[in-house]
Amino acid sequence: MTVAHDFSPGELNREATFYVAGHRGLVGSAIVRRLESAGFENIVGRTSAELDLKNRDAVLGFFAELKPRYVVLAAAKVGGIMANSTYPVDFLSDNIRIQVNVLDASRQVDVERLLFLGSSCIYPKFAEQPIREESLLTGHLEPTNDAYAIAKIAGILHVQSVRRQYGLPWISAMPTNLYGPNDNFSPAGSHVLPALIRRYDEAVASGAASVVNWGSGSPRREFLHADDMADACLHLLEHFDGPDQVNVGSGTDVTIREIAETVASVVGYTGETEWDTTKPDGTPQKLLDVSKLARAGWTSKIPLSEGLERTVAWYRDHIGSLREK
Ligand code: GDP
Repeated sequence: MTVAHDFSPGELNREATFYVAGHRGLVGSAIVRRLESAGFENIVGRTSAELDLKNRDAVLGFFAELKPRYVVLAAAKVGGIMANSTYPVDFLSDNIRIQVNVLDASRQVDVERLLFLGSSCIYPKFAEQPIREESLLTGHLEPTNDAYAIAKIAGILHVQSVRRQYGLPWISAMPTNLYGPNDNFSPAGSHVLPALIRRYDEAVASGAASVVNWGSGSPRREFLHADDMADACLHLLEHFDGPDQVNVGSGTDVTIREIAETVASVVGYTGETEWDTTKPDGTPQKLLDVSKLARAGWTSKIPLSEGLERTVAWYRDHIGSLREK
């Protein structure tokens, strides 16, 4: 039998079982750190080797046994602009299956509070900036990540449908470009910030006279540290309820050229930078309107300069053990 829960703002129960899907990734690992620091005692995670979220029977069985009270769905197949445009089938199929399995399984055990995470690429390519939540489904998607975006839009609809059909107070949040520890730093698969950190750091180590970045350098992107994102997630779970997705960002953006210059200076690179315009630029600007989040009581706390320094330090500590795809 399905029981509808009413939402009332306030602290989640620190003793309840809290499942973080994707607990080793950039966002999931930050959420685990945040939950630990907030005093949660029963945080559960499974690696993909332990539980393949694309396997429906395995996921349903896992949930039936664990019966988590809270869930964050931070597991997804993610990647930068080249990975997304080269392997669209994987991004569509894997993400739809992961979402449908985790959301169906959560519904079967009446998860009381669930946060579904997507990405700012769900919005139309030429959405008015900064992008408001209401822009969803008002225009064509950016082709380099349309498959991923459609999967994530399906997830938002799934959460809204569960709310409508079963009355469970689940919510969705759409982060801007995130960065931080446990990110993917592989040159072919990563997003721009880890790619730049690695490229410039390797150039310093090798004494290279120039590096080549992708695209024109003119697109604008907004960056948020994963620890800020995790803090926002817990805040939303404890204080926000509503069917529509909530944007999570820092509220300011920079050009790719500017962020490249900043990374170069943080790692100590003094050589030349060239731009390979045969590589795609993607959408010209992606800056989220974060006023809904501010109304819900949360704003970003980690400045980009501090977040970058921390991420470069983490990268240097983990050079030998980074994932390679
Ligand atoms: P997007 O935000 O979905 O477009 O994804 P990315 O983070 O992969 O790319 C953001 C922007 O950075 C695009 O304009 C890329 O062309 C540019 N960029 C410059 N150099 C790189 C690089 O080495 N890797 C990636 N992924 N993007 C780069």
